[in-house]
Amino acid sequence: MKVRTRVAPSPTGDPHVGTAYVALINFCAARKGDGEFVLRIEDTDRARSTQASEAAILDSLHWLGLSWDEGPDVGGPHGPYRQSERSAIYRDHVERLLAEGHAFTCFCTPERLEEMRVAQQAAKQPPHYDGHCLTLEPQEVEASLAARIPHVVRMKIPPEGVCVFEDELRGRIEIDWRSVDMQVLLKSDGLPTYHLANVVDDHLMEITHVIRGEEWVSSAPKHVLLYRYFGWEPPRFAHLPLLRNPDKSKLSKRKNPTSILYYRERGFLAKAVLHFLGSLADSGNDDRLFEAHDLLLAMWQRFDVHHISLGGPVFDTSKLRWLNGQHIRRLSVAQFLETLGEWGFVWPASVPAEHREHIARVAQSRIETLADFSALIEFFAEMPPVSKADLLHERLQAGEAKSALDAARKELASIPEGEWHESNIGAHLKKVAEDVLKMRFRDVARLYYVAITGSPTSVPLFDAMEILGKSESLRRLRTALEELH
Ligand code: GLU
Repeated sequence: MKVRTRVAPSPTGDPHVGTAYVALINFCAARKGDGEFVLRIEDTDRARSTQASEAAILDSLHWLGLSWDEGPDVGGPHGPYRQSERSAIYRDHVERLLAEGHAFTCFCTPERLEEMRVAQQAAKQPPHYDGHCLTLEPQEVEASLAARIPHVVRMKIPPEGVCVFEDELRGRIEIDWRSVDMQVLLKSDGLPTYHLANVVDDHLMEITHVIRGEEWVSSAPKHVLLYRYFGWEPPRFAHLPLLRNPDKSKLSKRKNPTSILYYRERGFLAKAVLHFLGSLADSGNDDRLFEAHDLLLAMWQRFDVHHISLGGPVFDTSKLRWLNGQHIRRLSVAQFLETLGEWGFVWPASVPAEHREHIARVAQSRIETLADFSALIEFFAEMPPVSKADLLHERLQAGEAKSALDAARKELASIPEGEWHESNIGAHLKKVAEDVLKMRFRDVARLYYVAITGSPTSVPLFDAMEILGKSESLRRLRTALEELH
């Protein structure tokens, strides 16, 4: 059997990291099974679905490097791949369920349903449809339809017994039919609900493995029953554990940014986000993947749905930042510069082109995101203001700091312009510390860092001074000295 998987996002907001996670796993499962991966847009909620959201979802998944064999943008033999374009298909299928007695027409008004809900709540019962229209006589139904009374179509649910199905990750799942509601399949506007459209499409699109979030486990009995009603072989199910915040609560926008766009804008590399999502699915996969030439290929080759652990994977953004930094370090300087440009970084005009590669080379290993780069190298364009307090620290008093800055200025002034490069600068500064100041270099390093870069941590000091040039470096030392007076 050829494996066919799908991701079926609803285009109702920003592209969610959870969608990318599910998409990645389905992609890997399809490739590993020498099969096909389908992207289907589940836009049956017409009020909330937007074109912009659909475009952003496709764009984000492409950005991550994922591609699909069939989908609304690439077409395919099982289209259309947007549920809003498949209404006639769903209506035909509902007709069939009605004709075969598996579904019924429900004319209950919203007011009646609301009263029912309130009464159930008062009686501490879970909300469920009470079956009011289940027993309508065919003539009554005909008459109400002829009178164009608004209605929906609901599926029948066995009054008792247990629904049993297998989950690839969770094993045998049993859910009491009494806890399953008589689900609306066709809404009063004639459009299907998720449950109907999802089952019909998975069947018609020949999906063999439904791999989706665990929030759908409780819906699975409805789906299993629909397959039975239609006389279709159900696909295999695997319900993935939900992504969690570090405090183990369900991943939410309030605690963690959840939009892929956010990570792209903040200077995360697609490769790092992909690696991170993969590590959520398979915690053992980190280290070897760094060296993979084609990360996605390496990921699907080692993919096994059974490696997915049911413990809620934690969406830990500090781990993502770390991974991102690791991937940035692995770029060649040329690739790093190109990546920065593609991301939209613009060099400050005051940083001469001939210094940019050197700056990139020394900054590359000191950032975790591309966005960090701008902040880190800003001091090349303009010296940030520094105060006396910035320059001093508990082991360096004002008098010592002044001598250190003054001695450095004098010593560095002796370096000819043509020999102004980092190793020479370093040797002279160390000499000042040891011979003139009688101190260890590391006790004055912080002072020089702040004087030159505005910060006690930055790119390597001697490189920074080489890049800034002799006169600008000396000027900054002098400015710092003046600050101490
Ligand atoms: N449209 C559903 C979602 O957005 C798809 C669920 C499924 O994969 O069955 O999560």
